[in-house]
Amino acid sequence: MEITGGCLCRAVRYRISAAPLVTRSCWCRVCQYIGAGSGTVNAFFPSAALSVSGELRDYLLTADSGNVMHRRFCPTCGTHLFSASEARPQLVSVRAGTLDDPEIARPSLTIWTASAPSWACMDERLPKVERQPPPAVG
Ligand SMILES: [Zn+2]
Ligand SMILES: [Zn+2]
Repeated sequence: MEITGGCLCRAVRYRISAAPLVTRSCWCRVCQYIGAGSGTVNAFFPSAALSVSGELRDYLLTADSGNVMHRRFCPTCGTHLFSASEARPQLVSVRAGTLDDPEIARPSLTIWTASAPSWACMDERLPKVERQPPPAVG
């Protein structure tokens, strides 16, 4: 299996040699900044399966859970590509919009619904979790 993707300006490209472990839609407050008002869709992969070419900037922020999160983005076009928690470095989360084929990243769960605005549009077919669920994998 090989999955490919990259940022809007194509300065950053990546390859992943594994299938997504789980994909979740997240409405935490931080994701609303990254998603321009919407939530984000994040596909989790084993970090060892990811190889990246091009320069990334890394923005560190301590999440509500207390975990230090690394959020990596292209310094040229600003596209957010990856996030990872220092508590679970074996996993990387890939922003689904950066996949060459976003179709492979169908979410199975919506999380942090308690932080979403009243006008948020959510997929009613998916289970919802009000805040941070237990780790789905790893
Ligand atoms: Zn870029
Ligand atoms: Zn989030």
